[in-house]
Amino acid sequence: MAVGHSLGFPRIGRDRELKRALEAYWKGDLDEAGLRAVGQKLRAAHWQTQQEVGLDWLPVGDFAWYDQVLTHSLMFGVIPERFKSTETPSLDTLFAVARGLSRQGAGQQAQPASALTKWFDTNYHYLVPELAPNQSFQLSWNQLFEEVEEAKALGHRVKPVLIGPLTYLWLGKAQGDFDKLELLDSLLPIYAQIVQRLADQGMEWVQLDEPILVLDLPQDWKNAFERAYNQLQRAPLKKLVATYFGGLEDNLLLASQLPVEGLHLDLVRAPEQLPAVLDRLPSYKVLSLGVVNGRNVWRSDLNKTLDLLRPTAERLGERLWIAPSCSLLHCPVDLTSETALEAEFKDWLAFAVQKSREVALLVQAINQPEAPEVQQALAESARIQAERAQSKRIHKESVQARLSAIRARHTERQSAFSARIGKQRARLNLPLFPTTTIGSFPQTPAIRLARQSYRQGKLSEAEYVEAMQAEIRHAVLVQESLGLDVLVHGEAERNDMVEYFAEQLDGYLLTRNGWVQSYGSRCVKPAIIYGDLSRPKPMTVDWISYAQQQTRKPMKGMLTGPVTMLLWSFPREDLSAEQQARQLALAIRDEVQDLEAAGIAVIQIDEAAFREGLPLRRDRWAAYLDWAVQSFRLCSAGVQDETQIHTHMCYSDFNAIIEAIAAMDADVITIETSRGQMALLKAFQVFQYPNEIGPGVYDIHSPRVPEASEMRELLVKALEHILVERLWVNPDCGLKTRGWPETQAALANMVAAARQLRTRY
Ligand code: GLN
Ligand code: ZN
Repeated sequence: MAVGHSLGFPRIGRDRELKRALEAYWKGDLDEAGLRAVGQKLRAAHWQTQQEVGLDWLPVGDFAWYDQVLTHSLMFGVIPERFKSTETPSLDTLFAVARGLSRQGAGQQAQPASALTKWFDTNYHYLVPELAPNQSFQLSWNQLFEEVEEAKALGHRVKPVLIGPLTYLWLGKAQGDFDKLELLDSLLPIYAQIVQRLADQGMEWVQLDEPILVLDLPQDWKNAFERAYNQLQRAPLKKLVATYFGGLEDNLLLASQLPVEGLHLDLVRAPEQLPAVLDRLPSYKVLSLGVVNGRNVWRSDLNKTLDLLRPTAERLGERLWIAPSCSLLHCPVDLTSETALEAEFKDWLAFAVQKSREVALLVQAINQPEAPEVQQALAESARIQAERAQSKRIHKESVQARLSAIRARHTERQSAFSARIGKQRARLNLPLFPTTTIGSFPQTPAIRLARQSYRQGKLSEAEYVEAMQAEIRHAVLVQESLGLDVLVHGEAERNDMVEYFAEQLDGYLLTRNGWVQSYGSRCVKPAIIYGDLSRPKPMTVDWISYAQQQTRKPMKGMLTGPVTMLLWSFPREDLSAEQQARQLALAIRDEVQDLEAAGIAVIQIDEAAFREGLPLRRDRWAAYLDWAVQSFRLCSAGVQDETQIHTHMCYSDFNAIIEAIAAMDADVITIETSRGQMALLKAFQVFQYPNEIGPGVYDIHSPRVPEASEMRELLVKALEHILVERLWVNPDCGLKTRGWPETQAALANMVAAARQLRTRY
């Protein structure tokens, strides 16, 4: 008898109930008891759903008030000194670590939050544990044990999920010059205590997530695995080590032979690892196969999946477990919320609830192949796959024809940078230290309201266009009076830099409620690529032309690049990422050329996600960077020498991608740097980056208004690495989350800094 389980369920709620409750609590509109009640209700509802669909083991410990890594930090007593105001941590301690503390009165200091960073290659962000030298660990947070009791009281059969000790340490950051792996020996006793308590609570299994087993691990980390799990071996409860987001590869033997009772594999990302694991897995171990994709929104092909599972089921019998590939945290909650979606599309999709049901069905298909509901589900799955294969909506001959007509010359600018930059300077006539911004201006409540009213039909198209044009006029006026050199239209009409374009491209599908947690209460609603992508008509030309008409200064066209479009969407599974990026590149290329034809001299193509697309394994970086660069070149290279292409990326570790950035051959790149004091520009210098650069001179994440002198000093630092004629002056990123007063004040100081430097050079 095969067994069905889940690695985790989304906690945010079908209607983002957790988001709403958290934000109400932070505002003071909901008390702690009220917040806790919402959490409890969500957990109960999620268990019940998973039980109803037929899973055997339900996860507990997948709920978090903000982030599961942070929950572990509290559990282990890893709380930065600056937040230790009370003996035992409270919910407010947790939120303080996550969100920082503002100064609340005399004697109390503002405290910055812990850093957020991406969870492996997902768009989920976790709070980085701050590991002190000689960090001590003590069990400090009982949430997991309480939730176990809660589940038991509801009569559920649950399996606690924990992040394993090595992955936890790997994700942390040593605060000082020491090797964080040295902390393992003092951390392990805490795990032993936790596991003992779970056993005392009557738990039979515990899941220990060790996704770092799919990474390139240093040898000492590999060695530590055996040591750690040997120590946990004595625990009076069975352990399932879960790996996901990739294949085990060189860690396969290590993972298969850990002294634990079960191993989970991600067979969606790495199906090829199954035979090798089956060969090496000791005969007492459970093997959990992650066959339902936890990272995407497509309905499983149940028959195909069963073909993969059946031989293994025969071999393993009750030692076979079936699961989603990873936690379902990374997909939206419930497809039944999508009431406005066309039936055909709905047939193709599955969200967390539906994916849980798929797991249960696969188990049932193994255990009771004759059961009528199994027969029916398999027939339905076959029908939908067949219909989808024949659907006219997916494949477009015109797109295929264009793709096959791409030649090398389509990815080459007419001239090299050294030749075209002179023509651009002649056309643009900019001063030294040209000033610009990254694109968006404050998204005021009025703007949001106008967009919303338009969507709801309360505002006519003409009224909406007028409202947005008024925003553009205002943005232009402000920029002109500030004395900026290259202006932007402000992006008032855009809700989101991907969704805005996805809505206008053929081949993209938008959901109403397909929210996925990004961090804390923040959720994103990725668009879904279902078919060949194309641009039926210009997407930005009217807005940008209108903006250009308001000024004699150059107006920068503003687009989102193909790599970012792809990485922040749910992609197709029937076409490679590379091919999808090429399709996007062609669509954007059309827009670039239309902007150029409309007289726009500067066009920025944002690639905010470029670096985060790096695969988890280094040996795959080159292939990714190659298609990522080529797709950027394909969308941008069709313009005349006189048209200046900008790109923008927002993070500050460029070492691994500097060569690729140079190969993108944008005339200007603006990047985030201000918090790093320009140190990252060294990489550009060492590499002799040939084109122009605008290192951000101020942090847009905070409302603080930097002085002109600060920014001037940063620019002087930048000049240690960058030639003066190549240096641009701009903030770190877009200003949409800021208010107008601080934006104007900061930009005024920024322009002043540039002017001061112009008198010196
Ligand atoms: N042009 C976008 C903006 O200014 C870029 C956002 C980003 O890099 N994330 O908002
Ligand atoms: Zn940015």
